[in-house]
Amino acid sequence: MNKIKQLSDIEARKIAAGEVVERPANVLKELLENSIDAGATKIDIYLEDAGKKLIRLVDNGCGMSKIDAELCFAHHATSKLTQVSDLQSLSTYGFRGEALSSISSVSRVILITRELNSAIGTKIELAAGDLVWQSSVGCTIGTDLAVHDLFYNIPARLKFLKKTETEWRQMLTLFQAFALMHTQVHFRLFSDHKLLYNCPAVELQDRLTQLWDTNLSDQVLKLVTNINNPSNSNNKHNNNSNLQLAGLISVPQIERYNRNQLFLFVNKRWVRNIGLQKAIIKGYAGLLPEGRFPVGIVFIEVDSHELDINIHPRKEEVLFLHAHKIERLVYEAVKQTLEQYVTKKFNSQPSSASLTNVWANTQLNQNLNVNSLNFKPANLTSLELDITVSSLVNNNKNNKNFNSHELLMATTWP
Ligand code: ADP
Ligand code: MG
Repeated sequence: MNKIKQLSDIEARKIAAGEVVERPANVLKELLENSIDAGATKIDIYLEDAGKKLIRLVDNGCGMSKIDAELCFAHHATSKLTQVSDLQSLSTYGFRGEALSSISSVSRVILITRELNSAIGTKIELAAGDLVWQSSVGCTIGTDLAVHDLFYNIPARLKFLKKTETEWRQMLTLFQAFALMHTQVHFRLFSDHKLLYNCPAVELQDRLTQLWDTNLSDQVLKLVTNINNPSNSNNKHNNNSNLQLAGLISVPQIERYNRNQLFLFVNKRWVRNIGLQKAIIKGYAGLLPEGRFPVGIVFIEVDSHELDINIHPRKEEVLFLHAHKIERLVYEAVKQTLEQYVTKKFNSQPSSASLTNVWANTQLNQNLNVNSLNFKPANLTSLELDITVSSLVNNNKNNKNFNSHELLMATTWP
């Protein structure tokens, strides 16, 4: 007896949906990417019950024609890629043409969209991938896509959704990542009918203020871009300009209890790459107490040939051809930015004597003989400073009173 039969299209799409959509934050990511790909400069996000009940995005992007609106829910329907070799030169987030097909097969979707040259828009409603309603509507240019009742037709998956609190954390981090990457976009985030974030287009530094606290924008340093690293080939790599770094990192006086404010972007995609996160943290060696983390927003641009973005169905990870080189460069950039900052602070002191006084008043002097260090801040090179700071840290590792944060406070603030 024959046992093999072809799955129906909708069942196949439900299975495929499992790869793209695991939780509400995955839906939010796909919809945000689509709005950015559509050139939106204003994106309103409406969430209910941390996305479990509703995830709706309203954008002012290019919108879709009636035919495209009908097609966009089909499997592998994309306007962004026609052959796999295009992947290398891709400038859009999307390329698989799977997101809307997957999302619509596991939820109720309402799409309202109108493109620039159309007099009228299109409204399409789907339930579990089946067309429920289609009509023409009057609407503004752009796209309004609402995803209701995620997984309502797959109870097994619904059961695996985490507590509202956990799902909300994920959504919020994702929102922050997009807001940091796309400072040219005006984002608003509404949760359960309340406006939580209103972030008009700004410079990156001010985005920090919009997303976190009011003082953060004054307490970050621009990452040095001309990395001085004669000891290895990174410099050559950098000069070839197929690898570029930019971003902001916090001054060492700022410390966080977790890595939630460390964001890394590779070729404009947010990535959670542990190796790169570690490289940033390592750049602060000795300047932050153990178990504390900096704020860091780091953008890395590499040649697309150095990167594979298609290794993960949700495009959450990328594969580097030369991961260590990139980590090394990030580490050097962070380290040198901090060195320059500390050196500048020293050189702006009125005299070394007053600094010695500051030191003498700190907790440190109970355990260290400041004079024995032959401390000459104004003449200290960044390398010497580095050595001094790390030797202090090392010498005092076992001392409970020692706090490297205080050390820096003492050495940089008169
Ligand atoms: P992909 O983004 O990989 O192409 P999607 O399933 O996410 O696949 O979207 C399918 C297509 O629908 C896109 O290629 C795009 O043409 C269209 N589309 C989706 N969202 C929007 C939007 N917000 N504005 C304009 N067009 C959109
Ligand atoms: Mg997409």
